Amino acid sequence: MAKQVNCPCGETVRGETDDELVTNVEAHMQDKHPEMVGTMSRGQILDMAQEA
Ligand SMILES: [Zn+2]
Repeated sequence: MAKQVNCPCGETVRGETDDELVTNVEAHMQDKHPEMVGTMSRGQILDMAQEA
């Protein structure tokens, strides 16, 4: 089931699977929010996720 995270910066990060979502969110943070890299666990990312 696809999921998405609405980043506070206004971008929506999506993934077709949990693994893909976490990978995409981590890539987004490295690209746009380097200060947040390493501060969010997989569980925290999935807690923020909504069904897309
Ligand atoms: Zn963002």
